[in-house]
Amino acid sequence: MSQNTNYTLEPDYNPEDRFKQYATVEPEFWKKKNLAEMSKTEWELLCDGCGKCCLNKLEIKGKIKFTNTHCRFLDCHSCLCKIYPHRFQKVPDCRDIDLAAIREKPRWLPKTCAYWLLDNGYDLPPWHPLVSGRAESVHEAQMSLRGRNIVSESGIQDYENYLVDWEDL
Ligand code: SF4
Ligand code: SF4
Repeated sequence: MSQNTNYTLEPDYNPEDRFKQYATVEPEFWKKKNLAEMSKTEWELLCDGCGKCCLNKLEIKGKIKFTNTHCRFLDCHSCLCKIYPHRFQKVPDCRDIDLAAIREKPRWLPKTCAYWLLDNGYDLPPWHPLVSGRAESVHEAQMSLRGRNIVSESGIQDYENYLVDWEDL
């Protein structure tokens, strides 16, 4: 779970700038390369922007259980991190998404996560922004956190009271 840190909005950082890179990568690159072969830009664009990995989780009897509490740095509308370039300095237990994290057992990424899907032999779903060409499609398909009953982690201690069992986790 994320540590208590003071919230500071970084003035020059727009979380949605990442979507401007869509036009700069090879079409359907994820079908031509495996995860280890992707460039940094391609790797970053694979993230569908669902925000679900930024929910706090508990490990119970060897399985990861999600809560509906989210890291305080999550933008609940865009479902992107407000401090992405500096997230590891501000939130020491924020997890980097690398191959080891994707393959970790028990699985802690949601089952819709693009990295997990590709690494396990699945294609990207039609609502993925790289497939649809639109950042909004993940939200329209109700695969992101936008509009869900989620609360900020600020002040929460008893996370077991916030467990959720959503089908797409
Ligand atoms: S769960 Fe995966 S696809 Fe969704 S925001 Fe996290 S890294 Fe991106
Ligand atoms: S710091 Fe950003 S990326 Fe890390 S858990 Fe919080 S919102 Fe998610």
